[in-house]
Amino acid sequence: METGRILILAGPSGSGKTTVTHLLMGLHKELVFSVSATTRSIRPNEVDGKDYYFINQEVFKNKIAADEFVEFEEVYAGMFYGTLKVEIERIWANNQIPILDIDVLGALNIKKKFPETAVTIFIHPVSIENLHSRLTKRATETPESFAFRIKRAEEELTLAPQFDHIVYNRILETAVEDADSIIKKYL
Ligand code: 5GP
Repeated sequence: METGRILILAGPSGSGKTTVTHLLMGLHKELVFSVSATTRSIRPNEVDGKDYYFINQEVFKNKIAADEFVEFEEVYAGMFYGTLKVEIERIWANNQIPILDIDVLGALNIKKKFPETAVTIFIHPVSIENLHSRLTKRATETPESFAFRIKRAEEELTLAPQFDHIVYNRILETAVEDADSIIKKYL
């Protein structure tokens, strides 16, 4: 299949990238959310097939072996997340553009695969303290996963310069406007 465009938003957990992604989709009908596969357990507010395809480790490993992923990462110990080739191809086949909300390493890997057609945007939180308070408000984490997410966020911030664009998320509306002006040039 011919390679289409891909828009990738990445940033630390709690950076607000999921919110920005959904608001951008509301502004541009041609952007379609690429649903990832994951082995993490479903949260109460999530829908299987809409937020993620929730699968077990065995199924995930079979898909790795069958080369079904564009990219995948073990984002947290024992928790795999991956972008499925069929998901991206289905969106391209409808003449639409997949928008991916994935982790920083996954984003950089996709950019390596599609250097001409992928655009990567790093959603940068104001500070690590700000991430703390967002993750606390979200209240989906155990103390261990909370600590992991903060540590990982610190590492991820060092990779921001490798992205095509960095958008600072101090005020949500401004972050969406900034991302939108980048996207408008690309669509
Ligand atoms: P959460 O558990 O909070 O939904 O997601 C944890 C992290 O995994 C987030 O940074 C999210 O963006 C990332 N993620 C979600 N889907 C994928 C994917 O398909 N590939 C990669 N590499 N990361 C993903």
